[in-house]
Amino acid sequence: MSFNELLLDEEARAAAEEARIMVRDEIDPEYLRAMDRDEVKFPREIYETYARRNLLGIRFPKRYGGRGLNWVAGVAAMAEIGPLGTACGCAYVMPDIVGEGLIRFGTEEQKMKYLKPMIEGKLVAAEALTEPRGGSDFFGATSKAVDKGDHFLVTGQKRFVVGAEGADFFVVYVRTNFDPQSNPYERISALIVDRSPGVEVDYLYGLLGTRGGGTGKLTFRNVKVPKENLLGPLNGGALVFNRMMVPERITSAAPTIGGMRAGLELAARYTDRRKAFGKKIRKFQLVSSMLARGVTLMDASVGMVYQAALAADRDDPRIRRIASEAKRFVTDSNWEVANLVMQMLGGIGYTNVFPVERAMRDARLCQIWTGTNQIMDMMIQHDYYDEVLKESGMYRKSEMDAENAGAEEEKIYDDDDMWRVIEREMK
Ligand SMILES: Cc1cc2nc3c(=O)[nH]c(=O)nc-3n(C[C@H](O)[C@H](O)[C@H](O)COP(=O)(O)OP(=O)(O)OC[C@H]3O[C@@H](n4cnc5c(N)ncnc54)[C@H](O)[C@@H]3O)c2cc1C
Repeated sequence: MSFNELLLDEEARAAAEEARIMVRDEIDPEYLRAMDRDEVKFPREIYETYARRNLLGIRFPKRYGGRGLNWVAGVAAMAEIGPLGTACGCAYVMPDIVGEGLIRFGTEEQKMKYLKPMIEGKLVAAEALTEPRGGSDFFGATSKAVDKGDHFLVTGQKRFVVGAEGADFFVVYVRTNFDPQSNPYERISALIVDRSPGVEVDYLYGLLGTRGGGTGKLTFRNVKVPKENLLGPLNGGALVFNRMMVPERITSAAPTIGGMRAGLELAARYTDRRKAFGKKIRKFQLVSSMLARGVTLMDASVGMVYQAALAADRDDPRIRRIASEAKRFVTDSNWEVANLVMQMLGGIGYTNVFPVERAMRDARLCQIWTGTNQIMDMMIQHDYYDEVLKESGMYRKSEMDAENAGAEEEKIYDDDDMWRVIEREMK
């Protein structure tokens, strides 16, 4: 029995089913090819197709255009979008990411002005965190918004903003607290910035993959942003960032499941037909074991994504660790699966006769964006240490099950311990 059958109620299953059918029947392969040739800068038509089917932001309340479902339903639909690749996948999940900031921190006016039209497909949003000076060191952001009474004056640059080319508005993180003694976590604010004359978008990157997704560089030249466009508290950008990171990570993972499935199905069909040494290559165990490994990685990824979705639905306090683990494991698995699929196809997999090479180019990005997988490891270990070292006493202390568990003099952790033991023994 699949997770979808176990976890999805009727409405959620219907949404995932609609997404599957839309992806199967309504997306023109030539459009995807044109995106990969960089002839399309942003897939607005596809974004509008998602919206026409009421498939954007399905976890948001109906009054803002969603379906009032939950994260579990959301990830099931995202997995169906995955075979379209990372550019179309990103256009699909952006309302989930930006919408998280708006639903949690937005005023009612902001929700009606930005969240609802975004989910209805009338407005496209993008999220601008990364700067030319760095993405991982997010809190070192130098783009700034200076308080001018009734508005902020925004200057600075952001880089690698996916969807920038098509966006009608941006959620931008800027420095608003210029006190050099201030805590770095209290220096930044989130602002909603409309596309306006002072906002310059340059579509200039020659990307390895994810082409046609509108990735651009933003330059803000003294952009006047009204005070009512502040999202969340002044200097409270860290709060907004911490919330938005949950959908960032879950949505980096969920669509890749569909990508893995598409690749593995292609490999299964190919190896069932292709012959070598007089027999189908699937009969060689070295080939079929690649398929077995790939399918196992895919199903383990499904488990990780649904675990994160359930934790998000329950507002579990461990969500940062769990979502980071899902992003880390699933995107690494996706990369391994893309390699296995290419290997199963042999030389033809390395050509553009099959979309395997494109999937591989896309897969590589997933390990870098929305926080690199090294940054995911930083989060995972940090939060896990915190959880374990709290010593809740909830679990059995298996340390004491060792035969010689009482040998305290052998449990040396540092120089002081060692000398304490030596001095005790020399007495
Ligand atoms: C196609 C594409 C689309 C993107 N979309 C968006 C978007 O929509 N919005 C947005 O804001 N950003 C976006 N990004 C940016 C992306 O999130 C960043 O590239 C990423 O976070 C890494 O930042 P960086 O490129 O500045 O690398 P750096 O931060 O310079 O990192 C370089 C290397 O150092 C490692 N590193 C850095 N610090 C540490 C540390 N403390 N411990 C261990 N390793 C470390 C990193 O893991 C990496 O391997 C996109 C990027 C691309 C390529």
